Amino acid sequence: MTARILNGNAIRDQIYGELQSQIQELTGAGVRPGLATVLVGDNPASKIYVNSKIAACEQLGLASSRFTSPSTVTTEELLELVRELNARDDVDGILVQLPLPPQVDSKKVLEAVDPAKDVDGFHPVSLGHLVTGRPGLAACTPLGVMEILRRSGVTLEGANAVVVGRSDIVGKPMALLLMHAHATVTICHSKTRDLAGVVRRGEIVVAAIGRAGMVLPDWIQPGATVIDVGTNRVTDAAEAERLFAHFPERLAKFRERGSALVGDVHPDAVQVAGALTPVPGGVGPLTIAMLMSNTVKAARLRRMNSVMQPAAARKP
Ligand code: NAP
Repeated sequence: MTARILNGNAIRDQIYGELQSQIQELTGAGVRPGLATVLVGDNPASKIYVNSKIAACEQLGLASSRFTSPSTVTTEELLELVRELNARDDVDGILVQLPLPPQVDSKKVLEAVDPAKDVDGFHPVSLGHLVTGRPGLAACTPLGVMEILRRSGVTLEGANAVVVGRSDIVGKPMALLLMHAHATVTICHSKTRDLAGVVRRGEIVVAAIGRAGMVLPDWIQPGATVIDVGTNRVTDAAEAERLFAHFPERLAKFRERGSALVGDVHPDAVQVAGALTPVPGGVGPLTIAMLMSNTVKAARLRRMNSVMQPAAARKP
């Protein structure tokens, strides 16, 4: 059996189509949703991430603004910038690109973001809303995983879901979202005993570990839905051979480029799983899509009420 491939790019395009009509409605009412990105230093990966988020804004017609600070920036200077962005009415979402340099108190900066503009969903208030099932802005990657599951027709209610990883930005919010969708959720981490046995009980498995190909095919229950959040750059030839033994094209590409992007799930799991997200092209595109979706949602929640008020008052 070969797993159904859950194509993240196609699901992202579907979501963008839906967002476009919401954005048109908002702009028609005089509200153009806007995202402010804060980029510190010269980290090339951070620059790429911020550029792709700004490109997505441009594609959808959202306003975007970029604020850059040198790597010598202080916590106080960043707090001042966040305060300014909190106060600006045209900024609906604030994204502080991580990691911040070591001299900066990252927690303090993230907690300074107005929860109404916390489009990354990292603020403790956002997490509190998620825990208690209240409306709010949740973390983008787990939200994206939920979109993949729902739009692919995967039954969540009553399903045994296993989340490997318990980070604040992926594993924990993922487990909460699955629980709210009525799955029976098990959370695993580095101290979990018999990890393979626990994962094998999952009808839905979400791997968010950060270790290339760690989840092996014989850990997967035949027919399970496997969501691979991991994005690991493999540069070691022996490791590439272990991972791509049955994928000569990927191995050839690795040899040509000297590196390859691999998930936390061994590529051979495609022979056992019922459905599987590829890496790249699975969860990744959804993370940016949900950032766009959160920005639109934040604009609607914060600004649409005041715009709609006079219209409602005009009703007989
Ligand atoms: P993280 O903060 O490093 O957390 C990793 C989690 O995996 C931790 O809870 C850790 O357990 C657990 N873990 C590590 N080694 C393990 C082992 N041997 N057995 C069982 N559990 C183990 O990472 P993260 O930020 O959640 O990210 C996870 C992966 O997702 C990374 O590859 C990251 O690049 C990727 N990611 C992708 C996207 C995307 O858009 N596609 C977005 C975010 C993250 P402990 O808590 O016990 O240490």
